[in-house]
Amino acid sequence: MKNIAVLTSGGDAPGMNAAIRAVVRKGNKEGFNVYGISHGFLGLTKGDLKKLEVRDVGDIIHRGGTILYSARCEEFKEVHVQQKAVATLREYNIDTVIVIGGDGSFRGAQALERHGIKTIGIPATIDNDIPFTEYTIGFDTSLNTILEALDRIRDTATSHERTFIVEVMGRESGQLALYSGLASGAEVSLVPEAIEEMSTVIHKIDESIRLGKKHSIVIVAEGAISAAECSKIISDALHIEVRTSVLGHIQRGGKPTARDRIYASRFGSTAVDLILEEKHDVALIVNEGKIKMKDFDEVITGKKNLDTSILKMIDELSI
Ligand code: ATP
Repeated sequence: MKNIAVLTSGGDAPGMNAAIRAVVRKGNKEGFNVYGISHGFLGLTKGDLKKLEVRDVGDIIHRGGTILYSARCEEFKEVHVQQKAVATLREYNIDTVIVIGGDGSFRGAQALERHGIKTIGIPATIDNDIPFTEYTIGFDTSLNTILEALDRIRDTATSHERTFIVEVMGRESGQLALYSGLASGAEVSLVPEAIEEMSTVIHKIDESIRLGKKHSIVIVAEGAISAAECSKIISDALHIEVRTSVLGHIQRGGKPTARDRIYASRFGSTAVDLILEEKHDVALIVNEGKIKMKDFDEVITGKKNLDTSILKMIDELSI
């Protein structure tokens, strides 16, 4: 019987559990022993793994976070640490590892490939910042969490006729800021991929106040500017009271949406299909709604584009 393993790594993302469930159940159906590695690459170096049976992944499809825990393990960049992980895999006779995580985690997977371990990547990060894939597990849930927060902030912004600056996650990516801006009807979204002059933002808010708007909401991606800095610039320029809200880790947790569960299940099941087809050193991606695969090399060195036409749309629609 063939032994395979699954781990989650990097930032946790809602839907990771649904992907684990799919890998374990589909793997089991195909006659594999599926091992769950706890705490990502860190756990692998410590031999922290156990066989998962189909019932072990019952009742998790709707739960946020990851039952396998996640971790960041900088030491995994060192060859002697990777060799320790490989020794564990050899001891358990595991020749393939499914890595659920972001592009950093895919680099970890590639490191295993260099030591002769086969790997398949499943894109999971709320940031949706992985090149070539339209979608990563967790993005939709996070976007909806942000939207719910923005709707609440809008109520208080309107009642007090205030300008709010809301900082969202995304590291170097503006995907969450961009789409939450469009979906919430914000005045402006500031993203790292297309840095806007603050004078333009100030002009936009000034205009909207002059046109009788009761509130303004500016969304800032954490990689573009901090809410505190943005707030200071706007309040100094317009002499108005500005409130800030940093949404923080609430964006990472919570029940995965239907979209996240569906993609996670499709990714998990397809990853096992790829093992049967003897494919490896690849990440799964979504392209025009279809699940496809792409070499890790291309994904890791590629660049994710942001649809900046959406910025113009946000501006045009928030008159
Ligand atoms: P997220 O986008 O949610 O932060 P991520 O997978 O990109 O997820 P990282 O912290 O970049 O998160 O990477 C996760 C882990 O992958 C690291 O802690 C490390 O163990 C491993 N890893 C990252 N880069 C490398 C590398 N160059 N070589 C080996 N392992 C790596």
